[in-house]
Amino acid sequence: MPTCLPTVLRRCHTCSSERFRANGKFRVNANHKLLDAWLLVLCTVCGDTAKLTVLERTNVRSVRPELLDRMHDNDPGLAAELLQDPVLRRRNRIALDWAGAWRLDTGGSDHLDREVIDVSVRFAARIPVRPVRLIAEGCGLARAEVERLITEGRLVSAVRLSGKLSDGFTFTLKR
Ligand SMILES: [Zn+2]
Repeated sequence: MPTCLPTVLRRCHTCSSERFRANGKFRVNANHKLLDAWLLVLCTVCGDTAKLTVLERTNVRSVRPELLDRMHDNDPGLAAELLQDPVLRRRNRIALDWAGAWRLDTGGSDHLDREVIDVSVRFAARIPVRPVRLIAEGCGLARAEVERLITEGRLVSAVRLSGKLSDGFTFTLKR
C-alpha cells in the first residue's frame, strides 16, 4: 500500500534534476466556459514548480462538479489518483518512482512457521514491485532463498514471479 505520493520523474528546466514531488496542490483557470487545470509538482532540488495538465480547454459542463471541488480543495487523494492514471502520465511524459513510497502489510507473522502457505497479494495502488522482493520480505526469507524455492518448484504461482508486477497474484510456498 502507498505511504505517500510517488516521485514524479521529469526533467527540470531550471536545474536539470529529474525528480519532482506533488504536494497535492492544483491550479484551475477558467476562461469563459473553458477550463484548464494542472496538478502542481515541485523539483526536489531547486523547488521550481512544473504543471501537469489535467484538463485542457475543457468545457466546464463536461467536467464533473465533484472533480472541480476536489481540485479547488487541493485534495491530496486526487493527486494520488491522477498520478496513477496512465493517460495523464503519457500526456505529460512523466514516469513514477515508487521507491520509499509504499509498504508491505503482512497482517501479522502467524504464517511464518507453517509448512505450506497459500498467499494472496493485493495491491492498494498499481505499484510495480518485484514479487521475489515481496515474498522475501513477507516470508522472512533472503531473496536468493526465494529464487532457489522457485527453481526447486516449492514456490509456485500462476503468474511469472520474475520481473515486476503491479496486479494482485497468489502463490503457494512449501518449505
Ligand atoms: Zn530543479
